[in-house]
Amino acid sequence: MKDNFMYDLGLINGKVYQDGKFADLDIYIKDHIIAEIVSPGKNPPCEKIVSCTNMLILPGFIDPHVHINLDLGEFKSADDYESASKAAAFGGITTFIDFLEPINSVNEFEAVLKKKQKEAKESYVDFAFHTTVGNYNDDVDKLIKISRENGIPSIKLFTTYSESNRKISYSKLREFLEHSSKSDTLILVHAENDEMILNAAVEDTVADYESSRPAIAEIEEVKKIAKIAEELKGQLYIVHITCGSSIEHLEEEYKELLGKNIFIESCPQYFHLTKELYENENGNLYLIAPPLRSIEEQKKLKVNISSIHTIGTDHCPFTKEEKTRYEEASKIPKGLGSLEFSFSLMYHLFGNEIIDKFSLNPAKIHNLYPKKGIIQVGSDADFVIFDPVKVLYIDSGNSRTDYSPYENMVTKGIVESTILRGEFLVKKRKLVGEKRGKFINRK
Ligand SMILES: [Zn+2]
Repeated sequence: MKDNFMYDLGLINGKVYQDGKFADLDIYIKDHIIAEIVSPGKNPPCEKIVSCTNMLILPGFIDPHVHINLDLGEFKSADDYESASKAAAFGGITTFIDFLEPINSVNEFEAVLKKKQKEAKESYVDFAFHTTVGNYNDDVDKLIKISRENGIPSIKLFTTYSESNRKISYSKLREFLEHSSKSDTLILVHAENDEMILNAAVEDTVADYESSRPAIAEIEEVKKIAKIAEELKGQLYIVHITCGSSIEHLEEEYKELLGKNIFIESCPQYFHLTKELYENENGNLYLIAPPLRSIEEQKKLKVNISSIHTIGTDHCPFTKEEKTRYEEASKIPKGLGSLEFSFSLMYHLFGNEIIDKFSLNPAKIHNLYPKKGIIQVGSDADFVIFDPVKVLYIDSGNSRTDYSPYENMVTKGIVESTILRGEFLVKKRKLVGEKRGKFINRK
């Protein structure tokens, strides 16, 4: 038996990312798992060898924040699991975490879970879910328990959107944060101050959209929620932070909690696009919530990149026709697609510093580690073969929408190939894999 032993796949001659640096190593895979990592030249028996000269070999990326099949009534986001996961594969993302529909009581949980499980059968990449609550008024412990039992140790809540009954009460928010540590559950918070948004006296136009959900509404709410998390020793993950000022505050007041009790996520759109776009003729196409911000806030976001733990996309595209159907900002569906280009967009700005924010950090924070997020023996054989020199010309991509907010941008660095559990999904920029995406239980 031993004499016939063969590895399934070998990746040789690449620069392998481990512990924050690159090393010349060869990787061998058996049964979808990383089986051996050796110095070049050892050449153990292996069925298939792929040479990766001049390439970086990175852990498969994790996007902790995507919306697939998001149903807003009149509008449904453009991507289903098939198209979203295809876009993800081209962007090097081998695992993403989608959100269950918001629920207001425990007994709605099963239905929203089943719906997602069914949709997700079409996925090319591995996936997981976050539970989402709206104006939840039921038992907190029960929801945490049932969610965890189903492999979902994370619950998202909103401090805004009272108009659609999605805003949680502060008493319930406190309960969730209080119960989070002892149950090892992460509480994801969309932090914008609802009152400030309701009281913003601006016209319902695209040009005035940013002022209707102003930067200060995020900054103040982040302050408030962080204070509650500190008081209750909660496990808080603030999604899609848009303002560098929000992060500066967290750095000043809660430095010792960052990375332990408080985690920060931001998205590529806030690094590449600014609110001036809303004044343009096609401003509709860039409507998202929270909005794009000023150049000053964007600069601060960039300066504070080292404090940001994860990059999620908040992927939620709509078509041009849907984005331009109405003139009133309130009626336009909010959301953009970024899945396919997120890593290249961020690598272009920050280089190697960004890698952990797409791999190790989201894996650890969202309980995917050490199965995902790291290149080491025993982990899933998920890889990105990345060419750091070649340029990427961004087009509308594989998403089912008909535009990309980054169209015509050129970034340095391109995802050449993506490997999921030992099999090529994308090879030299062509989709070659099948829909093998699996639910990852994060219990
Ligand atoms: Zn979102």
